[in-house]
Amino acid sequence: MSAQEMLEKKGGMIVIGQAGENLVRVANIVSGHRYLGRAGMGAVMGSKNLKAIIAVGKAYKIVPKEKEAFDKLKKRALKYINASPFTGDGYKNYGTASHLDYCNRHGTLSVNNFTKGMHKDAHKISGEEMKARHDTKHHTCRSCAILCGKKGMFDGKNRVVPEYETVSLLGANIGIFDPVKIAEWNELCGKYGMDTISVGNIIAWVMEATEKGLLKSNLKFGSPDGIAKIITDMALSKGLGKDMALGVKSLSEKYGGKEFAIQVKGLEWSAYDPRGAFGQGLSYAVANRGACHLSATVVFMENIADLLNPQTVRAKADFVKFFEDLFNGINSISICVFTSSAFILEAPLSKYTPNLILHCLMQYLSKIAVHMVDISIYPKLWSSVTGIKLSNAEFLRAGARIHILERYMNTREGISRKDDTLPERFLKEGRECDPKKTTVPLHKMLDRYYKLRGFDKNGIPTPETMQKLNISSV
Ligand code: SF4
Repeated sequence: MSAQEMLEKKGGMIVIGQAGENLVRVANIVSGHRYLGRAGMGAVMGSKNLKAIIAVGKAYKIVPKEKEAFDKLKKRALKYINASPFTGDGYKNYGTASHLDYCNRHGTLSVNNFTKGMHKDAHKISGEEMKARHDTKHHTCRSCAILCGKKGMFDGKNRVVPEYETVSLLGANIGIFDPVKIAEWNELCGKYGMDTISVGNIIAWVMEATEKGLLKSNLKFGSPDGIAKIITDMALSKGLGKDMALGVKSLSEKYGGKEFAIQVKGLEWSAYDPRGAFGQGLSYAVANRGACHLSATVVFMENIADLLNPQTVRAKADFVKFFEDLFNGINSISICVFTSSAFILEAPLSKYTPNLILHCLMQYLSKIAVHMVDISIYPKLWSSVTGIKLSNAEFLRAGARIHILERYMNTREGISRKDDTLPERFLKEGRECDPKKTTVPLHKMLDRYYKLRGFDKNGIPTPETMQKLNISSV
């Protein structure tokens, strides 16, 4: 059967673009109009000469074991989603770019290769502004109740509305605050199959390296000239684009400038500057696949829900561990992690505790607070579908097992404390927007995190930890 025939049979498929074929390290995989974006999975397919995987057949249907309980929980979940100011208003109406004003206010926005933290023109690329100017409509994953994806009219063309990470990294981080340009480059990255987060970081690194005289290029902060061409050159591995296709770690090893290569474990950063959100910094340092915001989005508690003081180390290790375990659990039951912004804060325990008390509890009694955050809807949904009872603690333990197993695999590849770090920029440089010139006190948080996780001082899971989680070591 030809690919065309398969598609006519309403097949589903995952495909790589030219970037994946050319083994660009930031190549992604597309399924429909959604991307498996990070860490170069497109290059992995490309390295195996695998262009696409197509599946045909009937979709399976899940029949919940306890239908009545499931229907009740579904209703409750929808109620939480619609009531939450984040999922029911922010994401639903304006997409994830509704984060932008919060981050700009807290000095967490990536601006000019993470040198500034905020910008006077930032609002121009916010979700609210794009909705007002670009007639945005829903354009989402299947079966979604939150509806964060959007499409809109940009310069007479119906294009995907860039999400928060894209407007920040392929926009503010290269000094551009023009949504039309960003939407155009977003589409170009999609066409070649490249991750906009990494591409934005790489271009910003080249701009700074050019300013510092480490290499020659025509790329300049604030100028759109040459961006479309360099994206194409990266995808096709041509000229300077060939070096850029290897990522900022590799670029800085070749040209110098490691201190401003914004990466952890070789993965370029998502768009949160940790000098305005210490917990997010710890999360980037310890995330198993490198600087990934979806490992533990503590910045949500620090900058968006305003439940943790952003510039203190207090409670950060506890919440990084909590969110890592929670997100691993949520991902395993195929629910979008964005639901957590609604479920854990709309649940009665957090909703009816006065904000001041909640804030103090989270900050000063974090050991208790992480148990107060009500995650019960997730294990209950799972139990109603499978008929197998699962407590909150068992749900989080399953998430912890996934995290430790991944960490153990990393350990075998030589990963340890030396790799759980942040670029020098965040450890040594203050910023103009912050009169206290705050930097991230990473090591204090790291010690506490290792203790909570059951790692030794060098970041290696101890035999007791492995045993406790029933993971056999090799
Ligand atoms: S499933 Fe999640 S990522 Fe997809 S549209 Fe819905 S909220 Fe957005």
